[in-house]
Amino acid sequence: MPELPEVEITARRLSAGVAGARVESALAPGLVALKTFDPPLDALAGRELDGVRRIGKVLAVEAGDLTLLVHLMSAGRLQLFDERASLRDRASRVLVRLEDGRELRLREFGTQQRAWAKLLQADAVAGDDAVATLGPDAYPPPAADELAKLLDQPRHLHPLLRDQRTIAGIGRSWVDELLWTARLSPFQKGSELDDDEIEALHTAMDEVLGGAIAHYEGVVGATIPDKMPMPLKVHRRAGEDCPRCGARIEAIHFKDYVMCYCPEEQTGGRVLKDRRLSRLLK
Ligand SMILES: [Zn+2]
Repeated sequence: MPELPEVEITARRLSAGVAGARVESALAPGLVALKTFDPPLDALAGRELDGVRRIGKVLAVEAGDLTLLVHLMSAGRLQLFDERASLRDRASRVLVRLEDGRELRLREFGTQQRAWAKLLQADAVAGDDAVATLGPDAYPPPAADELAKLLDQPRHLHPLLRDQRTIAGIGRSWVDELLWTARLSPFQKGSELDDDEIEALHTAMDEVLGGAIAHYEGVVGATIPDKMPMPLKVHRRAGEDCPRCGARIEAIHFKDYVMCYCPEEQTGGRVLKDRRLSRLLK
């Protein structure tokens, strides 16, 4: 599940790898992955790549006045390979072949095709829905008073922080880490945060997201791995001891994700009802 730190390290490594390389051809074996047709994808042919940057959880591959926006969704990876993909590689969605023989490849694991790419004129990027609707970037975090205004909504923090229109870059993994670090309940409402809680969340965003990027800088080499070595402390650790207080990390299972938290430090000692469990017990 690539989120801000994973997309950031991907952008940094790819940018270092492709800057200055010239595109030979571009094609999209994953027909539904390409969301635009004008300009055509092969308009990239002959262009020099300037680099890759991150906008929220979206990657922007820049080539002069054209930009290829790529959203990895939950199972996509954008990677640079020394050799071209076999046409039998069913994970391939978009291939940008470079004149030096390398290939920038959008791959997606699993059967669902949800990762997408859009080729846009560079000056149309800011106005594209995928970018125009984004809130401020979560890292570095907005100033505490601005963060307080953004979160002043009567919604639970867990979905609120994952709402890209409110703040961009946080998803299902890092939201658990942020709330645990700030000692906040996932069910507290944004509009009910006091100054100290906003400050705690602000500090957590800075430390946790910045710390994850620093971690990746140390452990991720030039090649982006299929599976990022995510330095998670509570997410996906239900049943383990809280690394801070030793209480048992609890989980609430939703249809397609799991929320993990420390009851001792985040919910006043209360173990919240697990909907999956209560459904099974009916
Ligand atoms: Zn704890």
